[in-house]
Amino acid sequence: MKEKILEMEKYAKDYNVPIIEKASISYIMQFIKENNIKNILEIGSAIGYSSILMASASEDVKVTTIERDQNRYMECLKNVKACELEKRINVVCQDALELNLADVSYDLIFIDAAKGQYTKFFEKYKHFLTDRGVIISDNIKFHGHVANKDKIASKNLKQLVGKLENYIEFLKNNEEFETTFLDVGDGLSVSVLKDGK
Ligand code: SAH
Ligand code: MG
Repeated sequence: MKEKILEMEKYAKDYNVPIIEKASISYIMQFIKENNIKNILEIGSAIGYSSILMASASEDVKVTTIERDQNRYMECLKNVKACELEKRINVVCQDALELNLADVSYDLIFIDAAKGQYTKFFEKYKHFLTDRGVIISDNIKFHGHVANKDKIASKNLKQLVGKLENYIEFLKNNEEFETTFLDVGDGLSVSVLKDGK
């Protein structure tokens, strides 16, 4: 398992797969343990790195993870099997914005897919949270670009960063959720569903 994780880190580096930073996944694994999280939905599996680590936080964790890219999905399946976690990690190959989920609820939803779509993912999947459920989003700082938007030359990148800024505003103004922004790794937001909603 340890070896497989190292192998995945190397693969991610060699093939430019944007896996989560170590400090961030450590925070999430700790969060899973402390909050007795059992059911997790992940949007954006890539090669399965974060799903495998989240599942390994505790033996009773189950993860459903969604990936739209066929090659990454295949790689993810392979890695999940190699770690013998296929009973606890369900990998779905589809665009998360098109998928119709079964009527299940999740204690934790981890958003880590297309950065321009975070608000859409949030709005679509918040209905699948348990009471006091939590949505964690990765790459809130977007490699420092969010803090330095004025210096960005590329129009596309600027637009993407603008969307992330809108997402941050959306979270700050959201009455249903209480959000904390953490300066861990590439930036995490932790949005807890408030009582009585
Ligand atoms: N969570 C992974 C990294 C995910 S990288 C880890 O830390 O190990 C983001 C992934 O999201 C990419 O593989 C990309 O193909 C996928 N993705 C982007 N938009 C998506 C969408 N709308 N639905 C499903 N997957 C998506
Ligand atoms: Mg990420």
